[in-house]
This record gives sequence, C-alpha cells and structure tokens, in this order.
Amino acid sequence: MSGPHDTDDGQELDAEDEAVEAEGAEGAEGAEADGAEAEGGGEPGGAEGAEGAEAEAEGGGEPGGAEAGGEEPAAQQPEMTRERARAERRDLDKERGEPVAGPRAGRRSVRRGGVPAGDGRRPRILVTNDDGIESRGLLALKMALDPIGDVTVVAPDLNQSAVGHLKTLSRPLRVRERTLADGSKGWSVDGSPTDCVSLACLGFFEEKFDLVASGINYGANLGDDITYSGTISAAMEAEINHLPAFGISQEYSEQVDFSLAAMAAAVVARNILRHGLRRGELLSVNVPAATVEECEGFEVTRVGRRIYQDQLIERLDPRGIPYYWIGGPAPSGIGVPGTDFNAVVNRRVSVTPIHLDLTGRRLMREMQGWDWSSAPDVPADEDLPATSEAEAQRLAEEARFERR
Ligand code: MN
Repeated sequence: MSGPHDTDDGQELDAEDEAVEAEGAEGAEGAEADGAEAEGGGEPGGAEGAEGAEAEAEGGGEPGGAEAGGEEPAAQQPEMTRERARAERRDLDKERGEPVAGPRAGRRSVRRGGVPAGDGRRPRILVTNDDGIESRGLLALKMALDPIGDVTVVAPDLNQSAVGHLKTLSRPLRVRERTLADGSKGWSVDGSPTDCVSLACLGFFEEKFDLVASGINYGANLGDDITYSGTISAAMEAEINHLPAFGISQEYSEQVDFSLAAMAAAVVARNILRHGLRRGELLSVNVPAATVEECEGFEVTRVGRRIYQDQLIERLDPRGIPYYWIGGPAPSGIGVPGTDFNAVVNRRVSVTPIHLDLTGRRLMREMQGWDWSSAPDVPADEDLPATSEAEAQRLAEEARFERR
C-alpha cells in the first residue's frame, strides 16, 4: 500500500467551493452563537436555543468547540434526576420481564498502545452503525479501535440503512444490554443511529466521549448517498452534540473483507484524536473492495455526484392490491478526479471532510439580485378551509410539546 495520494483537487475547485472553504466554519459558528436563525426567517428560535444548550452541557470533549447560549438542561427536568428516572425505568422493565440494559461505566480491561486524550487518559470512543448491532462491520470497527481507546458500542437492534438523520420523538426507546461476538458488552436500541448517538450524548453513560465512529457500513456512502445515510447521520448527530466523529463505509463485494477498512478506521481515528475537528466538521471515509496490498493509499476527496438507477416496481399483494418497491441496479457515479467516487473506483481509501453548514454560497450571492419586494396574489388565511377538530388537537399537543 502506498502513501497518501496527491491530487489536483485544488485546481478543480471553482470559486464557489473556495468561498465555502473560506466562509463555511465562520458562518456556521456565527449563526449558532446568536442563538437564532439569522437567515432562516419564519422559524421560532426558542427550541433551537434550548437544544444547543443541552448539547453544550452534555457534549464536551470537542477541541475548540463553539459556545452555545441558553438554559441548563436540568431546568427542563426539575423534579426527577436523570439517574433516578433511569432506575425507575429499569424497575418497570424488570416487572415486564424484559431484558433491558442498564449503564455500566467501568473499563473492561487494560490495553496498550492507545493515543492519550488531552489530559493523558485513554480516549473514550463511541462506536455505532446503521446496519445493526449484529453487523460484522460494527465488530470490525470496534476491534480496530480497541487498541486506541476504551470503546463503547451502542447500535440499532435492526438494520437502519438509509434512514438518514431520523430521530425518534413520538415513542419511547428501549435499550438492551448485548454480548457482542468478541465477548464484549454492547447496547442495542430499538431506534435509529441518531437515537443511539443521542442516548450516549445525553447521559445514558456516565462517561463523556472523545470520538464517535460509525460503521463499518456494508456498502459505500459516496456522493449524494450521504443525504440518505444512517451511517453518516450518526456522525452528524455526534457533531451536533459537539463530538468529533467519522463515518466509515465499505464498498460492496461478494466476499466482504473488513481488513482494509479496519486499518483505515484506526488511521482516521488517530488523526482526529491528534488534530481535532472544528465545529460543523466530520469525516466520511469510503473504503474500496480491495485487500490492504491492493489498496493505492488514502486520498482526501470532495463529495461527488451519484447516478441512481432507481425504479418504481409495482406488484400485487394476495388480495390483488398493488404495492410498490423503490429499487433497482446499484447506483453509479460521475468519475471526476478529486471526488470520493473517483478515489474508491481507483482503489484508494477516500476521506471526505464534510461540513454541516449546507448554505449555498453562490446561490446566496445570486439571490441578492432576486425580487423580494412584492408578493403575487395568494389566498388570505380566512380563505383556507377551517382546521378540523383532529388537526386542532394535534396542533395543541405539538404546542404543548414545544413548550415543555
Ligand atoms: Mn447500512
């Protein structure tokens, strides 16, 4: 395997990309520090501010993290501590005879060779995925990071691929203690990858984490895939909670071998722990279906474009009623040099820096020239049909929820 691959990526970037590079982090931090939607318009800022405060209080560990104003999360739960609430939940679950997990903070064993965190202790690493707790890729990632730090595994109980950034708000989450195939302990959640990270960041464990790693996903997350990816969304959720994070995905192959991906995960984890990431930043790693020997090294890439070949497939159920599948051949991509897609096709490990500031800078500038002064004729509110009883009830419930 050769060293880092040099690219002409710099020359490939157009003015817009450079503007993003220059303005991205600053813009995102500025908006957050204000605790309001500076440019968004129309959205009430209250909920945003409170969430920011919670993330700040629980997150920790992020080098150079931005300040977020707002209330302490404790103010939102005046009469019940988190610990007591959890104990009560456990009792309830015992009554029901369900094997539900409790948190366990202790270390499992002393390991050598780790990269020390800032204060000299071993880094604490949260490992999750979207393929589910049974995934071999999850275990490969966990075992790859064992030598680097103390690894805690929290993953969905079922496959959650392509759920995106789904967050479960309308039903309770069940957590179960599991024994992973290497004999270590882990936790499964009947929710999404984002739920797993949320639980961990909001205090399910006593410890705080220094790094979140998501994967190893079975199947690449290239180009537009990241907008669907539960794997990358878990890393995004970690970033939102002020923790440095990466997602790692393995290109499909008949006989999957995670050796190269495991090595790549360890390299990426070590780099993040050494150099840190700034607010808004995370990494998406894509590993080609190749052996360590066949691999052509690492390449720092940008997000490419996917070409999807999805089809709508209609079938009939036993009662003759049509149902639908969205599916089809595996997606292709545009092989522009410097992109994640191009790197993986050429058997290089792609490492893409992602920024959560999704603002379109070029369009933002262009929109200065659009007409914002007059509105076309639209119906007034009283011209809309009256709100139904059910809808009114739902809105009232939502309002209560927002105020909580
Ligand atoms: Mn997946």
